[in-house]
Amino acid sequence: MSAYDVDLFVIGGGSGGVRAARIAAGYGARVMLAEEYRVGGTCVIRGCVPKKLMVYAGRFADEFEDAAGFGWSVEKPRFDWGTLKRRRDAEVTRLEGIYDANLIRAGVEIVPERAVIEDPQTVRLVKTGRTIRAERILVAVGAHPVKEPDVPGIELAITSNEVFELESLPERILVIGGGYIAVEFAGVFAALGSNTTLLHRGDRLLRGFDDEVRDALAEAYRHRMDLRLGRTLRRIESRDGGLRAQLDDGTEIDADQILVATGRRPNVAGLGLERVGIETDAAGAIPVDAYSQTRVPSIYAVGDVTNRANLTPVAIREGHAFADTVFGGKPACVDHRLIPTAVFSTPEIGVVGHSEAGAREAYGQIDVYKARFRPMKATLSGREERIFMKVLVDRASDRVVGVHIFGHDAGEVIQAVGIAVTMGATKADFDRTIAVHPTAAEELVTMRVPEVTKHPVGVG
Ligand code: NDP
Repeated sequence: MSAYDVDLFVIGGGSGGVRAARIAAGYGARVMLAEEYRVGGTCVIRGCVPKKLMVYAGRFADEFEDAAGFGWSVEKPRFDWGTLKRRRDAEVTRLEGIYDANLIRAGVEIVPERAVIEDPQTVRLVKTGRTIRAERILVAVGAHPVKEPDVPGIELAITSNEVFELESLPERILVIGGGYIAVEFAGVFAALGSNTTLLHRGDRLLRGFDDEVRDALAEAYRHRMDLRLGRTLRRIESRDGGLRAQLDDGTEIDADQILVATGRRPNVAGLGLERVGIETDAAGAIPVDAYSQTRVPSIYAVGDVTNRANLTPVAIREGHAFADTVFGGKPACVDHRLIPTAVFSTPEIGVVGHSEAGAREAYGQIDVYKARFRPMKATLSGREERIFMKVLVDRASDRVVGVHIFGHDAGEVIQAVGIAVTMGATKADFDRTIAVHPTAAEELVTMRVPEVTKHPVGVG
């Protein structure tokens, strides 16, 4: 008889944990998974999935407007928040059921309660007090949104968790932050008809993205909402049944809801890490090696709790690689260097590889190809927004080292471009690819003249 109750105990039923549990069980491991909230985790329950459904909802506003230029007359469209919320929540529940069913079908035992680490090979279930002996433990507990900055009245704000529970569309909303979540939700609320203000402490949104993409986004958002850059929040107070935010320059913003999207922190509190000697890093994350193993050999961690690249597909890959390595006899680790990503703002952003500044730093001499143009649809719709594309090429090897798209469906396009870039495509490969006409994406293969570099020779 085994000295262990299970071969693997997974703490957390989000993207990383579910994938690891399923694959490990597929290799014949006895797997138990604890989830204290809802199986599916942030992405399915209160992240990517319900957010994207809201993004779709918002985009109809543009479609109704654009239709007029093509001969359609659409009576004043009306949006009903209750219908969207009900249908979105039903879809999330449906997906949760599928996640549950897939785990059960794979032979994973799901325990719907919180689990904490007792020792390197023991987990305690908090509600029932049961202890489980596990040969290996995988921590996949994710992260939670923070309520920052720490100013008076910040408790009156909501985070990206509560935003999915709102019972009505706020007439006025103030969104604070300049990362993925703030940018996406500001776009959603503005499109759905809320009077939206986006407040960010920096001079540009989306730190880490290419500067010209950041500028293009700011320009588009200025037409869609009240964008306040380089300003910080000083306090929030209740006022006349609503909220009033005061900024550092003394200006005040009245809103029905204030959404703070100023980052997320790993869910490590009370997990028992100190009992096994795992110290978290400065960001509160669990340090792991390339195989997601912590300094305690029997304990592994994947996903946002490790703060490597906090994206669902990355957590899934990490979970899969862990299971392949430990239970499948196929050592695998995830390459975090080249990760295509999209921001579901409207217009959308799709990126793979380096920003221009990052490419110059990494390669020295680079060639920069750019296109900025009005999409064909806009010729009749009259919409003013431009598409912006940028391809960055390492001059020495001709390899494409960065592609940036700002425009409709950028997320869809960048997924395909990501394959080419991951394979090591050169600019010559892009050039010999025949264009699909007429599309916006054909610009990616028809850019012929690099921008004349403003940098002295030798700097790139
Ligand atoms: P991010 O870390 O991306 O952004 C946080 C933002 O808040 C930054 O603009 C930051 O400013 C600002 N900020 C941080 N602290 C403060 C403060 N004290 N006062 C004022 N502003 C502050 O976090 P998000 O919450 O937007 O997203 C979390 C993660 O979720 C992301 O890293 C992303 O990986 C993932 N995600 C991915 C999505 C996608 O793939 N489409 C969608 C949503 C989330 P500054 O830049 O100056 O530091």
